[in-house]
Amino acid sequence: MPRLSEVIAALETLWPAERAESWDAVGTVVGDPDQDVTRVLFAVDPVQDIVDEAVKLGADLLVTHHPLYLRGTTTVAASTFKGRVVHTLIKNDIALHVAHTNADTADPGVSDALAGALDLRVVRPLVPDPTDPEGRRGLGRICELDHPLTLGELAARAAERLPATAQGIRVAGDPEAVVRTVAVSGGSGDSLFDQVRAAGVDAFLTADLRHHPASEAVAHSPLALLDAAHWATEWPWCELAAAQLDEISDRHGWDLRVHVSKTVTDPWTAHAASSVTTS
Ligand SMILES: [Zn+2]
Repeated sequence: MPRLSEVIAALETLWPAERAESWDAVGTVVGDPDQDVTRVLFAVDPVQDIVDEAVKLGADLLVTHHPLYLRGTTTVAASTFKGRVVHTLIKNDIALHVAHTNADTADPGVSDALAGALDLRVVRPLVPDPTDPEGRRGLGRICELDHPLTLGELAARAAERLPATAQGIRVAGDPEAVVRTVAVSGGSGDSLFDQVRAAGVDAFLTADLRHHPASEAVAHSPLALLDAAHWATEWPWCELAAAQLDEISDRHGWDLRVHVSKTVTDPWTAHAASSVTTS
């Protein structure tokens, strides 16, 4: 049975903290390095529903993609949203570890998992990490389709393969347009339009696309857009990360049970289609 410090050291080989963005807050948030770990839960968001699930599961370690605290705080009082999370974790001897932008740019990372869920063949990073001589790490991925699909078919595939959310998949572009190349980026992607345009791909799949950047992007190029729920684009990473830890656990001969949360933590819970559709 490994100690927390040993499991964290293993996770750090996958997602070294120094590869996180300078504004990010990754690493261990709660936990005693000497505590034993037998059960690990992976999830996107360190929210109360997920922590309650970890308690019910008997997990000793929760690994999330999103940080709990991104900026400094002066209180962990249980009367606050995040303080309640901290209290529940500590009272139940559950550690919390975060792998965020260091998991985004890892090889394999968040966007590899997203591409894999859609059966897209990864060609290279969308924004290569200049410190990686092999050019395999970086933000987002440029992918090819083994068999071209129409935009409508690609959207249907994304809706089918990504976990279900109220939002589903929003699409900008001609549904009959043929898609051979796709840029994907798990999480908010509208800061990447310049790189997506430079890559010359047919479509861009990401999340949280805002009105102005999206309308500018489609106005001057034939680029099609697919916008999924932020949570849904990052959730496939949990399965990838759990498989990576499972493999490490086997190699070390650890008796570790690794789980992936299926709880939907996308904040949007319903979707009403407009009564009049435009065509
Ligand atoms: Zn995210």
